[in-house]
Amino acid sequence: FAINMTQLELEEELGRGNYGTVKKVLHKPTNVYMAMKEIRLELDEAKLNAIIMELDILHRAASPEIVDFYGAFFIESCVYYCMEYMDAGSLDKLEVDGIPEDVLGRITGAMVRGLKFLKDDMQIIHRDVKPTNVLVNRKGEVKLCDFGVSGQLERSLAKTNIGCQSYMAPERIHGESQGNLGTYTVSSDVWSLGLAMIEMAFGHYPYPPETYANVFAQLQAIVHGDPPELPDEGFSDEARDFVARCLHKIPDMRATYAELLAHPFLEADRQREVDMVGWVAGAIERRNAKFRAQLEQAQQMHSS
Ligand code: ADP
Repeated sequence: FAINMTQLELEEELGRGNYGTVKKVLHKPTNVYMAMKEIRLELDEAKLNAIIMELDILHRAASPEIVDFYGAFFIESCVYYCMEYMDAGSLDKLEVDGIPEDVLGRITGAMVRGLKFLKDDMQIIHRDVKPTNVLVNRKGEVKLCDFGVSGQLERSLAKTNIGCQSYMAPERIHGESQGNLGTYTVSSDVWSLGLAMIEMAFGHYPYPPETYANVFAQLQAIVHGDPPELPDEGFSDEARDFVARCLHKIPDMRATYAELLAHPFLEADRQREVDMVGWVAGAIERRNAKFRAQLEQAQQMHSS
């Protein structure tokens, strides 16, 4: 069946990204809550149609580690994209206190299986691996979203891509600075995975923009500096080695997904129990408490 706007009841806004807003919606015919992403594009109808057709292959991307796709349509110059609603949101907002090794292992395992599924079964390179694109629910499930499936959509979005946190691998930054967009391979996603793990462990992006004079200096640090590492404290040698296998400056030296799945870090994850439900509930509670505190502070400043 095809989804359209008349079937949807709009609920609250879930978040805003670089390209548009994401709202919670109720799909009335099935009584299913969904997340609907609105992407505003100044394109003609033929191009919008091409995007909807290209997105259709997402119906085949059924995997426990990939956010379910329900359908897409366009109205005027906006593409609407309906997907599984993940009630704990994205990892960037849950990681702020840092993520402990056992939980990091669970999340990493899901990310590697999801990326391997995309590559082996869908011939898709994700191209945008980062904590914002990893969604979590209260059942403790971890799933990937926002991967590059529509060439037309990627091309239309590329022009508006800004953002001061780069998860791009060194060879990709270098390639783009030379005007060469073709240097992207699956191992570039492996770099982004390693960087996302460092960010989750520390609770913040490892090349904080405020420590660099400008974006150029920040990108220089990624391309020419030593790759970041997991902290000694709180992380095992296996975890640190796993990240080092991802964050190799030379693309061919990075581990493959099969190698990562067989790595002792993920082997250990399969051997132990991890209370993901408890961790998600606690992280949401801390996120909400922080939000309430900020709100209170803002109100006090306003009244004084
Ligand atoms: P970006 O463009 O930065 O990747 P998105 O537009 O994809 O961001 O999403 C913005 C925010 O909306 C996310 O950070 C997340 O909190 C929320 N969000 C996105 N998709 C979903 C979903 N399927 N379920 C719940 N929340 C979501």
